[in-house]
Amino acid sequence: MDDIVRGAALRADPASQGDSDGDPIHKIGIVGAGQMGSGIAHVIALSGYEVALHDIAKDKVDVALGMIDKNLTRQVASGKISEDDRRNALARITYAETMAGFGDADLVIEAATEDETVKRKIFVALCPFLKPNTIVSTNTSSISITRLAAATDRPERFIGLHFMNPAPVMELVEMIRGIATEDATFGRTREFVENLGKTVAVSEDFPGFMVNRILLPMINEAVYTLYEGVGSVDAIDTAMRLGAHHPMGPLQLADFIGLDTCLSIMQVLYEGLADSKYRPCPLLVKYVEAGWLGQKANRGFYDYRGEKPMPTR
Ligand code: NAD
Repeated sequence: MDDIVRGAALRADPASQGDSDGDPIHKIGIVGAGQMGSGIAHVIALSGYEVALHDIAKDKVDVALGMIDKNLTRQVASGKISEDDRRNALARITYAETMAGFGDADLVIEAATEDETVKRKIFVALCPFLKPNTIVSTNTSSISITRLAAATDRPERFIGLHFMNPAPVMELVEMIRGIATEDATFGRTREFVENLGKTVAVSEDFPGFMVNRILLPMINEAVYTLYEGVGSVDAIDTAMRLGAHHPMGPLQLADFIGLDTCLSIMQVLYEGLADSKYRPCPLLVKYVEAGWLGQKANRGFYDYRGEKPMPTR
């Protein structure tokens, strides 16, 4: 996270951000405090917004707050933000024990597990607590925005906001309208995203949108390359790092994303585009079945339990 360059204090005051269709966005609710939820909370709080963070497991929120503090401290050490910025950002993040904690949110970002059933249940539980003009968004990597919007009471105020991982570092946010998303929702949300210092790329609502439609088949192909014995984990990652100048090898990247998330995205591409070229590699399925989900589980294509990551094949 050394490359984090975003600083809240460097941004315009969120309180001055108006919109033509509802309250200005001041307070953001986040559902899901995993890798993405915590990274998004970090960016948003550092940009001056109030954040309420909720997870089905309270310990995930505790871990997230510790991680955010650690990453903010690193930013202070490298001179990217001040100690006051760090303290103020942390103070802006509160724990929402239940969804009732989102009653005053102007925008809610759902960043829970990549599973359509889980996400639909979250939206059904969430909406009764919200103000009528609150915008609901999802950080899904691949699931149809229009279908998820249909699980809410406000498809016209629903939008896909696809932050990249790690959210404090990556400059891009894909924005995806569902069929019913109103222009005012899009405009209000875009202004918010740009105020975080992010660049927007607009994608149509197709499986995987743009980034993952391109990235995940490459990762899946790397797993096939391993599965078929063409190369070892180390050889494949070295080949792509030095041969294609990718900053990370594809298997290392898969571990970073989370193998469960990679598999879910491939399944969405496979089912949504009905093309056999998106068939998830059986070895990827096997790793997920073993619970070897990558870095977050301490084991994936690499084993992270020792001093340095060791290839598992
Ligand atoms: P993660 O496994 O790190 O975190 C998911 C969190 O959701 C967990 O803390 C879990 O406890 C929580 N959760 C599950 N069910 C819940 C519920 N009913 N209510 C509240 N919280 C619940 O996953 P992640 O990598 O943070 O991914 C989250 C979302 O972001 C997914 O939709 C994923 O596709 C998307 N995304 C992931 C990446 C990535 O590289 N990992 C990048 C962009 C977008």
